[in-house]
Amino acid sequence: MITVISLGAGVQSSTMSLMAAAGEIEPMPDCAIFADTGWEPKVVYRHLDWLTEQLPFPVHVVTDGNLREQLVARSAGRAGRFLTVPFFLKHRNDAHGIGRRQCTSHYKVEPIREKIRELLGRPKGPVPAGSAEKWIGISVDEVIRATPSKVRFEIDRFPLLKKRMTRADCLGWLRRHGYPEPPKPSCIGCPFHSDRMWREMRDQRPEEWADAIEIDKLIRRPIDRPGASSLRGEQFMHAQRVPLDQVDLTTYEDRGQLNLFVHECEGLCGV
Ligand code: SF4
Repeated sequence: MITVISLGAGVQSSTMSLMAAAGEIEPMPDCAIFADTGWEPKVVYRHLDWLTEQLPFPVHVVTDGNLREQLVARSAGRAGRFLTVPFFLKHRNDAHGIGRRQCTSHYKVEPIREKIRELLGRPKGPVPAGSAEKWIGISVDEVIRATPSKVRFEIDRFPLLKKRMTRADCLGWLRRHGYPEPPKPSCIGCPFHSDRMWREMRDQRPEEWADAIEIDKLIRRPIDRPGASSLRGEQFMHAQRVPLDQVDLTTYEDRGQLNLFVHECEGLCGV
């Protein structure tokens, strides 16, 4: 059996990896695997490089294409597999919806699974049940995300849940050990971004904000084409269903209102 870390490079999986490196979670993993969508913020790639240097086991970076390029290709009408991102939909009758989420499975889950198969020497064909233990960095405050593996050769394990650690506990552990706070990994144009994340991007990473605006404009078109009848309408990156550069990102406080919603969405992809 091999032990691998599913490395999203966020707070939880970074903490879990560093705790394993320090011997606080056993056994020592054989490796960590990071699935790259090709569209993460630069700060995430920098953090990944830093983290790789801290760990005594290898970090494999795997990819199955570039999500941004796929969105550009689709908008230009070029052939290729159409993988949907859960963008916000405004249908022609003004009804609202959300697209199917195929991106996580295609860009994250499957490439990691394929790498595990490769490491087991079984790139094709059946793999004996229980051949790999995969650690996933889910903390107690996200327990709803902990689900059993969908394939028999992988056994999913959640070391942070076993230790009853919250996200705040992870941040505390990192601080006590002198490690920096990891950035939030997710695609630049992920529709799961909270308004706070969009504001940070707009104010602190203007190049990435401009990139998201550019792609947000491009995703408006493809679903109007023949063959996409079930999705007739328009896609938007933000729930307000207006172009990203027109979204109202002011805070409750900016509008002179009391903010009772202190918990922002944590997103769903990289942990
Ligand atoms: S971060 Fe968002 S856009 Fe990227 S793969 Fe995950 S759900 Fe899809």
